[in-house]
Amino acid sequence: MNMNSETRNCQNCKNIFTIEPEDFLFYEKIKVPPPTFCPQCRMQRRMAFRNERTLFRQKCALTGKDIISCFSPESKMVVYDRDVWWKTDWDPLTVGVQYDFNILFFLQFKKLMERTPMPAVFSGRSENSIYGNYISDFKNAYLVSASNLHVQFRGREPGAWHQVPEYQFALSWRCSVSE
Ligand SMILES: [Zn+2]
Repeated sequence: MNMNSETRNCQNCKNIFTIEPEDFLFYEKIKVPPPTFCPQCRMQRRMAFRNERTLFRQKCALTGKDIISCFSPESKMVVYDRDVWWKTDWDPLTVGVQYDFNILFFLQFKKLMERTPMPAVFSGRSENSIYGNYISDFKNAYLVSASNLHVQFRGREPGAWHQVPEYQFALSWRCSVSE
């Protein structure tokens, strides 16, 4: 185990960043090598994969309904209306493909992702909250992202509906911009 701080050069932006002893402990615990990218570059990579706050007008690929989605129409993603996606009357296995050991994994994974229907927005157990993304257990939420009332209000009964107070939106937005 490394008991000293170490400075390294980010392989992307070339800036110097520090890895603390407790970081080494954590990497050892989850059995991953220490990072070669600085924290800012790592955050950029994570955020590039997950779009939380930009919403687009889209058409549901199954019903043709106008929807709001976190996937742009220019993306190659197949997007279903959130409520349609959660129903069980479509079979996700119809887009499954046989794995080919002669082709690189990530090439096959990309193709699979492009043909697998995605929900327009990621919101679980929410009602009347079509402009919310990466949320759960909201009712009448508007432009809230990456939030879950059970995190904010620990001890509440799971699955219970809560009206979204104004400060919830403010809290959510402040968390979002200060990342
Ligand atoms: Zn960097």
